[in-house]
Amino acid sequence: MKYTLDTIPVLDAYKTGCECPLCKLRILCEDQYVDTMLASAYMEPEWRIKSNETGFCTRHFELMFDRRNRLGLALMTHTHMQEVIASLEKILEGGSTGKKSLLSSLRGSGKADENSMPAKIRARMDGCVICEQVDKALTRYAYTIAQLYFTNSEFKAQLEQSKGFCLPHLALVLDMAEKTLSGAQLPAFQKAVAALEIENLKRVEGELEWFTLKFDYRNDGKPWGNSKDAPERAINKLMGACVGEEAQMPAHND
Ligand SMILES: [Zn+2]
Ligand SMILES: [Zn+2]
Repeated sequence: MKYTLDTIPVLDAYKTGCECPLCKLRILCEDQYVDTMLASAYMEPEWRIKSNETGFCTRHFELMFDRRNRLGLALMTHTHMQEVIASLEKILEGGSTGKKSLLSSLRGSGKADENSMPAKIRARMDGCVICEQVDKALTRYAYTIAQLYFTNSEFKAQLEQSKGFCLPHLALVLDMAEKTLSGAQLPAFQKAVAALEIENLKRVEGELEWFTLKFDYRNDGKPWGNSKDAPERAINKLMGACVGEEAQMPAHND
């Protein structure tokens, strides 16, 4: 697979000094794709065909709902729902034995067959147009990070002074490094990222510990330091930005 560089957004994200630049980029992408989807609701371009077929995950339905473009969301949900109903008719009319396959019985698996009615319903509702786009963009950004580290000395310094990544994005960056770096570059990159990550995980862990110790009356008069928002940052470091300020979407007036 061929990957392309996307340098400017990556450099901008690193300038913010956040806990995970890829989370920052993920939120900006989501914001942009939510707009694109709602705008495409009034036309019939390729996005509309995709959204009718694939639909959206809970998070991205929620983000679109928050925009208050009620008509755009309704138009899109309506035509998606028509396609879902057509699929559901086939699934429900097709029936299902509900029995486990011989193989899964032998394995002692409690899971129903993937051809069962509930499995087909779950598969139909799986997938999200916005998630697909965001994942593609983040793959490109992770690739850019791995490449820039060796081609742009200013970025190399920025990365080494950054706060590392959340764990899902750490895995993504290392994954892209394995796929695209060769020779001595791969171990050099892995080593730099590993040192950065451990140092920053321990930093956040220490800040979280101080947060808990501040509840001891003996620490009443002592300063909070960086610990006031340590629970949010610790959760975001482990899971990707999902709570607190770092997870907030850009403000909109619509
Ligand atoms: Zn992240
Ligand atoms: Zn989604």
